[in-house]
Amino acid sequence: MSRALVLFSGGQDSTACLAWALARYSHVETVGFDYGQRHMVEMECRLTVRQEMKNQFPEWSSRLGDDHVLDLSLLAQLSDCALTAEKEIAFASNGLPNTFVPGRNLLFLTYAAALAYRRDITVLIGGMCETDYSGYPDCRDNTMQALQLALNLGMDQHFRIETPLMWLDKAATWRLAGEVGGQKLIALTQEHTHTCYLGDRSIRYDWGYGCGTCPACELRARGYQEFTASIEASHD
Ligand code: ZN
Repeated sequence: MSRALVLFSGGQDSTACLAWALARYSHVETVGFDYGQRHMVEMECRLTVRQEMKNQFPEWSSRLGDDHVLDLSLLAQLSDCALTAEKEIAFASNGLPNTFVPGRNLLFLTYAAALAYRRDITVLIGGMCETDYSGYPDCRDNTMQALQLALNLGMDQHFRIETPLMWLDKAATWRLAGEVGGQKLIALTQEHTHTCYLGDRSIRYDWGYGCGTCPACELRARGYQEFTASIEASHD
């Protein structure tokens, strides 16, 4: 169980997962999915984050293996959503944002498992989270457990899907980054990860770059405020 594959988008959550994996596994590869995102900024950020991790954490450098990018542009054919079409982000009556691609994580993990099979990797790590999940049913722990069973039956393997953020809120994800990589990793997250739905990196807030108003920026900003408030409270 020493080789792991991290689903890595270059965002705050998957960056925390990558650091978490590098602290635990002797060999860690990353996989990203190109599915016609409106903003290629995400794909650029993930390479920068990987490089900064190597530069700033020499102890992780030899553990960080290959990066893979899989072309899932067919997802654009399946979705009518703000990530792939020039549309405003909106929320449907069921509470799901129109950025939601139905079952996206099921597809991502299935492709990741097929890749892991070829790379002799049995641990799949993703940033799925039930706490802040915006109603995404493919982020639920039950969904992950069912998918792990299906993948193991369907590929006759012993994959383990690990989701270190499953029960954390956004403040706790900042805290996790601090526990795994200290202030250095928090600073790296602020400076180089990308979360904004609109692909905006023109303004630098204390929590990082973004438009500051889309749901992803709001969630990240609120989490950071709660995180810094909890640090100040612990110093009082
Ligand atoms: Zn934004």
